[in-house]
Amino acid sequence: MLKISKKILLGVAITSLITACATNIAGRKQIMLVSENSAIQASKQAYVNTLKPLEQAGKLDSNPQVVRRVNRITDKLIQQAIILRPNTRSWEWSVKVIDDPETVNAWCMAGGKMAIYTGLLNKLSATDDEIAQVMGHEISHALANHSAERMSVAMANNLALNLLKTTTDASAKQMSLATAAAQVALTLPNSRTSESEADKIGIKLAAKAGYNPNAAVTLWQKMAQAGGNQGFEFLSTHPSPENRQQALKAMIPEMMPFYRAAKGK
Ligand SMILES: [Zn+2]
Repeated sequence: MLKISKKILLGVAITSLITACATNIAGRKQIMLVSENSAIQASKQAYVNTLKPLEQAGKLDSNPQVVRRVNRITDKLIQQAIILRPNTRSWEWSVKVIDDPETVNAWCMAGGKMAIYTGLLNKLSATDDEIAQVMGHEISHALANHSAERMSVAMANNLALNLLKTTTDASAKQMSLATAAAQVALTLPNSRTSESEADKIGIKLAAKAGYNPNAAVTLWQKMAQAGGNQGFEFLSTHPSPENRQQALKAMIPEMMPFYRAAKGK
């Protein structure tokens, strides 16, 4: 009797810890401490927390032309994301341009909360097709639930707890553990498996949105050439999977019909 109840207790403890064990859109089983829904809720607050100081410093969406350009591209990608995962229609999708010419970075939190830094646009002289590849890749991280995975890592390693303990910002002290995890998650590297998944989904979203798949290769070439000695933030959170450029190049023939069909519309 005692043995059984211990087993039951252990089971309860494990199920309360592992809140999600699902298969993502890339077909991979994920075991997580944070469910996608909690990741989306926490990311809403983390997005506000991250952007607020930038807005106060006048570093948010300061160039209307750039904002229009980025929105035009992400709108098309979002349409494709919703076709791929219809339940993301209810996400409160949003993109902000962060005016920071020194930072080469872009991200998409759980629930479709995105940002791109002007450093990425300028230092790479990024074309529309290349911006679509970056944002398609970022959106794919969210679609494949990688954000919740990284939040789980932040939780498991007490990184979120440390942030709450060490922050001197009064408003940040009020935030929940999950929100802290969502903020820390932005700085953690994705696994190489996640990177390959996001490359695969991202190039397809972009092609279906009418963006040239060849730009996926030129984007990572530019990123590697310019970022090798400059330590781009983007490269520290997006480690290169084996043969990334060759793998992307190999996908191009399959992507061209999607691209041509979208361009012909
Ligand atoms: Zn990535």
